[in-house]
Amino acid sequence: MIREKLLYVETFGCQMNVSDSEKIVALLSKVGYHPTQDSSRADLIILNTCSVREKPEKKVYSSLGRFKGLKKGGRRLILAVGGCVAQQEGERLLENIPYLDIVFGTHNLHLLPDMVRRAEEGARLAETGFIDSEERLDLFPVEDGAGGVSRFVTVMQGCDNFCSYCIVPYVRGREISRRSAEIIREITEMAERGVREVTLLGQNVNSYGLKSSGEPDFAGLLRQVADIPGIERVRFTTSHPKDISPPLIACFAENVKVCGHIHLPAQSGSEAVLARMNRGYGRKEYLEKIAALKAARPGIQITGDMIVGFPGEGEADFQDTLSLMEEVGYADLFSFKYSVRSGTGAAGYPDDVAGAVKQERLSRLQELQRKITLEGNRSFVGTIQEVLVEGVNRRGDQLFGRTSGNRVVNFSGPPSLIGSITEVAITRAFQNSLLGETRTSRQLAAASGIL
Ligand code: SF4
Repeated sequence: MIREKLLYVETFGCQMNVSDSEKIVALLSKVGYHPTQDSSRADLIILNTCSVREKPEKKVYSSLGRFKGLKKGGRRLILAVGGCVAQQEGERLLENIPYLDIVFGTHNLHLLPDMVRRAEEGARLAETGFIDSEERLDLFPVEDGAGGVSRFVTVMQGCDNFCSYCIVPYVRGREISRRSAEIIREITEMAERGVREVTLLGQNVNSYGLKSSGEPDFAGLLRQVADIPGIERVRFTTSHPKDISPPLIACFAENVKVCGHIHLPAQSGSEAVLARMNRGYGRKEYLEKIAALKAARPGIQITGDMIVGFPGEGEADFQDTLSLMEEVGYADLFSFKYSVRSGTGAAGYPDDVAGAVKQERLSRLQELQRKITLEGNRSFVGTIQEVLVEGVNRRGDQLFGRTSGNRVVNFSGPPSLIGSITEVAITRAFQNSLLGETRTSRQLAAASGIL
């Protein structure tokens, strides 16, 4: 009997990489590789890497060391590295890591089946060429036939913004939007298989279509997606504050299928730091856009990213960041200590905030955010929320889903609710989730005298 070939994919970094990993699994299933969660049994291990933060980059090197042992004793195992670290390092990875077989860049996913076939015959190869035309988004099949309640759909890739701390424009290439007809076709097929929610993905998603002729802008795309029969909710990430346009804000007011949540990274609350970051907006403009979003969709949940310890950040700048956080009232915040990415604009600034100061600021910021998040979660207790039920939680004892504002809710109920939008009464708030009960379970409890 021929043993099936097993594929193990480890994903680092952002949602874009998670989506790329799904595509890798779909592509390689067509050449006989089936996913496994057990790396020790795999015939092909792929590390899909990220170099936006320093930590994921380090993790890649330690993972490679971990998998080296699996090749001992002459066992045939193909080891591949893709994503941003692969794009940055290219052939150098093959030169430095003798047990590595394949390096593929961010624009080369579609070449993987052929690269794997050649690696099976003993070749070691690297492909990191950039394709700067919209063709690149259609070069590999995105339709994997998988179901689920909620799916990600790439609508654009790359970035032209060159924020001074960021490596993305160098490793993901120029901004390119996918054709809207392709996006609508893909989501229509997903909806026919029972998908109820889609998250439109891009490094800078709300600049979708601005550089393409004959395509809608992002607000137009959002309206088209929301009109697809069967699609109940539409989300999108990541948005750039400078590209939050009045038509996009109007979508929050006019279209209930557009979820009441936006991820809108400020990165700093200091005018001076924002200017050095080359973000293209100031504190005042950011807060004006937040106010317009809150007016368009009362109760909208806002999440963001923040960097502490950027070159030249003094205590007063940091205080501006803390006050911005309180003013916005972020539902959640991803926060990082600045670290130099070589080749970026900020690499030319002295990295002059001491490591201990960065750490201390990060701790203060995270403490404040925990407080804001918990207060926000508590404000939902006693309310009824519409929850899109996604599945059974990790412990296997309750269902879980998300509110329109992207808060996770756990509650008891029958699995038949999975895939539906259910009204849930919120009874308790925790740091990272809410607890609730459906109307039916409330009625049952009331009937039995428990309430
Ligand atoms: S907008 Fe700025 S931070 Fe975001 S990917 Fe582009 S360069 Fe990086």
